[in-house]
Order: sequence, then C-alpha cells, then structure tokens
Amino acid sequence: MARDPRYDILFEPVKIGPVTAKNRFYQVPHCNGMGHTMPQAVAAMRGVKAEGGWAVICTEECEIHPSSDVAPANEARLWDDRDIPAQARMTEAVHAHGALAGVELVHQGPATANRYSREIPMGPSHLPVTRYDPVQARAMDLSDIRECRRWHRQAALRARKAGFDIIYVYAGHDLSLPMHFLQKRRNQRTDEYGGSLENRARFFRELIEETKEAVGDTCAVVVRLAVDELLGPKGITSAVEGREVIEMLAELPDLWDVNISDWQNDSNTSRFAAEGYQEPYVAFVKKLTSKPVVGVGRFTSPDTMVAQIRGGILDFIGAARPSIADPFLPKKIEDGRPEDIRECIGCNICVSGDNTSTPIRCTQNPTMGEEWRKSWHPEVIAPRASDDTVLVVGAGPAGLECARALGQRGYTVHLAEAGDELGGRVARESRLPGLAAWGRVRDYRVQQLANMANVSLYRDSRLTADHVREFGAARVVVATGAAWRRDGIGRANSEALPGLDGSSVYAPDDIMAGAAPTGPVVVFDDDHFYMGGVLAEKLRRDGLEVTLITPALAASAWTEYTLELQHVQVRLLELGVTIVANRNLIAVDGAHAKIACVFTGRESEIPCASLVTVTARLPEEALYRALLAKPEALANAGIKNVTAIGDALAPSTIAAAVYAGHRYARELDAPAPAPVPFAREMPGEI
Ligand code: ADP
Ligand code: SF4
Repeated sequence: MARDPRYDILFEPVKIGPVTAKNRFYQVPHCNGMGHTMPQAVAAMRGVKAEGGWAVICTEECEIHPSSDVAPANEARLWDDRDIPAQARMTEAVHAHGALAGVELVHQGPATANRYSREIPMGPSHLPVTRYDPVQARAMDLSDIRECRRWHRQAALRARKAGFDIIYVYAGHDLSLPMHFLQKRRNQRTDEYGGSLENRARFFRELIEETKEAVGDTCAVVVRLAVDELLGPKGITSAVEGREVIEMLAELPDLWDVNISDWQNDSNTSRFAAEGYQEPYVAFVKKLTSKPVVGVGRFTSPDTMVAQIRGGILDFIGAARPSIADPFLPKKIEDGRPEDIRECIGCNICVSGDNTSTPIRCTQNPTMGEEWRKSWHPEVIAPRASDDTVLVVGAGPAGLECARALGQRGYTVHLAEAGDELGGRVARESRLPGLAAWGRVRDYRVQQLANMANVSLYRDSRLTADHVREFGAARVVVATGAAWRRDGIGRANSEALPGLDGSSVYAPDDIMAGAAPTGPVVVFDDDHFYMGGVLAEKLRRDGLEVTLITPALAASAWTEYTLELQHVQVRLLELGVTIVANRNLIAVDGAHAKIACVFTGRESEIPCASLVTVTARLPEEALYRALLAKPEALANAGIKNVTAIGDALAPSTIAAAVYAGHRYARELDAPAPAPVPFAREMPGEI
C-alpha cells in the first residue's frame, strides 16, 4: 500500500554533520541488559531495527575506560582495540539496511562504583558514588581531566574504526561525567572547571571539540543533554541552566539529542506520563540552534510525530521503547499500514531487563532479545508445517498471541473465550487508574486476528473438557489464565490466615469486577509489583480511607526495576494513602487487621473494615487437568496433545504470557534444542 502523504515529512532525509539520515526515525541509545557480554545478540537486535526502517540506530551506553565500569549492568564497551570487533558486528548489522550507527560513549564518573575493574571512581569533587556501593569518588585534578579527555578521544577513534557514523558526547540521565561537572550540587570545584556555568560546562565543551577534531571529518559528533532534571533550582532546569548550556554550545555539536533526567523521568511509564510528555521541557531547544534536534516521548502515533516536526519541536522522532515494541514501526508507516504498529504500552518491562542485568524483554514484542539466540524475527515466522488445526482456549494475552502467531503461520485456529470481552487480564487491568495503555496488548492482537481468515473467534464460549473433545482439533492450547487468592497465602505467609473467609475480604479480581468495599480499607500487598499500589490508588480515589501494608521495604517494591518506585510512593502519599512497610498481615476480625513487624515479630492492630489481599494467584487449570485425566478420550477425539500456557501454567507477568503464546506457535512443529533451548554466546567467540 502507498503511504499516506500526510506522513511524507517523516521520510525526508536529514543531514547530521558529515552524514545523512535517510528519514526522521531515530532510535536513541537504549540499554538492553546484553551489552558487551552478548554482542551477537545486541547486533542482531539492532540489525532488525535497521531492517524495520529506523534511519539511525544507536548503542546503549558504551564505556570508554575501566575507570568507569558500570557492572553489574551489561553495556557496550570500547576500552581498547580488542573491543572493536564486537562493536563492528553491530555497525555491520545496521549498515546492511542502510541505517547510520551511533555510539553513546560514556564515562559515568561518580555514578558507578567500578565493581568489576576496582579502579577508584572519580568525579568533579569528593562525593559518595550515587549507585550500588557505599564508596566515594575522588575529586579529579587537572591531570585526571586531561586523561579523561584523552580516553574519550581514543574511544571515539576506536568507534570510528568499528564503523560508527555518529559519536555521542553524553551528558544525560545524571549518569555521565560531563553532566556531573555541569551540576552545581556535584561540582564544588574552585578552578576553571567549577563555579560559573561557563566553567562547569568547560569539560563538556572540550569533549565535544576534541571529538570533532578527532573524528568530525567523517563522523557526526552529537550530544545528549538532559535539559531538565526535574529537581527545581537544585538541578539543571530548562528555564535556566539547561537553556544557557544550549545557548553557549548551540552550534558546536552536529545534533542535539535532548531529554529530561534522571532515567525514571526520561523513561517514564504510561501510568505516570502520556505520549509526548517531554515536549514542555525540550520545545525551546530548536529555537536556539540551527542543528537538528531529536527528542523522545514514547511516540507511537504517526500523527503526533508529524505534529512534532511541523510544530518545530523536533527534527527527528527519537524512540527507544516504541522501537523495542515495534522494530518495524517506520516501515509500517512507510508501507501505508500504520494500523499494524504494535504500540508500546509504556510498562517498562524492557527496562527491568537492564536493571536486573538480564537480556531485554518486552510485553508487546515477544521476539525482543530473542533475535539472535532463538532466530526470532518480529515480522517473519515460518509457514505451517502441517495441516493440524489448533484450538486455543482463552483469549487473554497468552491465547491472543498464540492464535495470532499460529494464524500468521497459516494454521487453522479456533480461539474460544468464555466471556464476551477479549483480552483477559489486560482488559480488566486496563480499566484501573493509569493502565489504559495496557489495553494495546489486546488491541494490536485483536486487530491482527480480524484480518486472518484462517482464525475463527468464539466469544461467550466457556469450554468444558467435553466441548474440547467434541471439537476434536489436533492440538489444544489451554490459556485460561489465573485467579487471585483470597486466603492470604503468598510470599510472606505459607498458611491461610485467620478471618480471611469473611465477606469483607476481597481479591483484586473482585475489585476489578466492580466490588465496592467500605472503609477503612487495608490493601495487603505481598505481590510487590503494580497491582497493590494501583488498587490502593483506585480505592483512595473512590473516597475510602486506605492503608497499604507490605512486608517489603516500600510500596510496590519491585517497581524499582521499572523505574516507578519513586513515582508510586509520591502518588500514593499525595493521594493520602497510608503506607506501612515491613509489616506482614497476621489476621483480620472484621474491624481490625493484625499486623506484625517482619523483623521483630512485634504485633499491632489497625482499623480495617475491608481487606484487599494482593498476594498470589492460582492457575485456572480445571480444564487442563480434566483433559489430561482422560488420555484415551483425547486420543479417541483425535487430539494429539494438550498444552497449558501463560498464567494457566504458572501465573506471571503479561510479558511472560505473550511470550508463552508466541513460543508455543513457533515451537509447535519445530521444538527448541535441548537441553539449552537457545544459542549461547561463549567467551572469545568474536
Ligand atoms: P493469560 O495472561 O495467561 O493470557 P488471562 O487470565 O489474561 O491469562 O486470560 C485467560 C482468559 O481465558 C480469560 O479471558 C478467561 O475468560 C478465559 N477462559 C478461562 N477459562 C476458559 C474456558 N474454560 N473456556 C474459554 N475461555 C476461558
Ligand atoms: Fe514498551 Fe513495555 Fe515493551 Fe518496554 S516492555 S517497549 S515499555 S511495551
């Protein structure tokens, strides 16, 4: 199909110094949890994005020297020439599809503890390092600064050798030395690198100038600058120092990549920020420079992208997460099928990979991170290898993705859903405060299924074992989901709690189904991801007095990995939810909840007219068990096998359910190798 002429502007080439990007789609640097330890996986992942039409594909942070080692994070590395081949893999994969490769050189200074290299961290002043360990960075003297400039220059030369077209000088995210020099609160120097903003910007300016001198004839030298740290006058703000830095250095770099800081603000989730949320902070930049400007804001709508360009806000549509959820986003717009875009839901499961030093995964895109080790492509899947029909029971994320991917392979698929609504848990959860965008997990798949003549969909069809056997499909997939427990059993409690069989005890499923508890209500969160916090928020917004009890150190403790921990505390506290951490629930009696300190066991009571338990879930496995109980009946019905997937097998994240559905479809007739079901990168392979 021809592309909509309204989107032509997105496909104009743009010059960045000595190189030219073929269009305005720019994959900004993003971490992936694979980095220098899995360079083949990184190269394949970036290559797929280049194939998907992005004009610029950048690395994650790339360490320039062992004095800034970001372990335990897995990022790129250009410490010496031996790191070049791994990076060259990435640039070759990107160039193969006509895209430009960018590298984000980084020295994290006092933002990392150098756990691997054991070199002493350094920064503008003597200060504790900001992450990981209770150690301090030493103040750099003038010779350290000179050395650091030299390392950066050498890394830039190595980057050019590795084939990069775009070299970053990075001052973003409160994670880079030039940013730390800029910050009044971290730079207490009295020499020419401290004091006035001009002095504090000296190191940044020198790095840009020297990188240009080293590689600027053939490579674009670009900067990433956080123009607002969202700390008010304590930090860089777009009203004052962020603006002044841009004014000072306006024409020096070949491109300005601007964002807000720190990472939790830059990669804010859809629960806390809407598409385009950075515009108020970065809109001024283009007025101060003739150089192209790239910015981010979880852009997935081509109309919003066009508005950003036409409105003079940005020259490039920067994207990390939208390119993770759909590496083929530009191509789909170009091919005139924007409705096929798999829109990012803004959940930050992708970020949790990096934050746990494990390969990236994505709720929407089950192939993310699997491009190399499983040879999974986000758009291409092998045609069916048999005429087997497949019955998928349950249209939650697992069942929908399973049916979609099987349908794409050309199998005849029957998808039966008990209710009249599709989407399972995402349909229910997307009605909770802040989670509307999660409905995209359903919407994308339902939209794709609508165009597949070989997939039949049956709503209001709660299947029993008899129904399934009567149906007689060759293969049966049970994706019937899970239900929240009401007995208190979970991480902290291994036995049912006294008093939880009463009528004033609710599970999340009850609240999502419209139950209305009376206050004061206690939310007992022993799950630690979003559900407890979101329900506390909902009930408080409904006007109830709410206390959130958790055995963890903070509300929704696991959201540390999705960068939401602070946002969650702020929201709950500002709404007036009382957060009681480090307490376990012991019992309820209709008027009070009895809780105990997780350290001392000391007990206390709090008023509790209603209790919401967010503890564990149990698979809805009755159908699965009933089918397995009669193997002969299955064989007589012509059913070759029955497989439970997603929450019906083991309750987990939505990302895990989508992955399970996709995996079933891929491996139905092509089992994964054993015992390790994927390729592994072995040391010294490159
Ligand atoms: P998952 O996350 O694994 O996809 P969900 O709980 O989101 O699981 O979705 C499970 C879906 O299965 C729900 O929409 C539910 O209504 C449906 N379902 C459960 N039991 C049956 C059944 N026996 N027949 C058809 N659909 C079912
Ligand atoms: Fe978007 Fe979530 Fe995928 Fe990250 S994991 S790219 S936030 S859908």
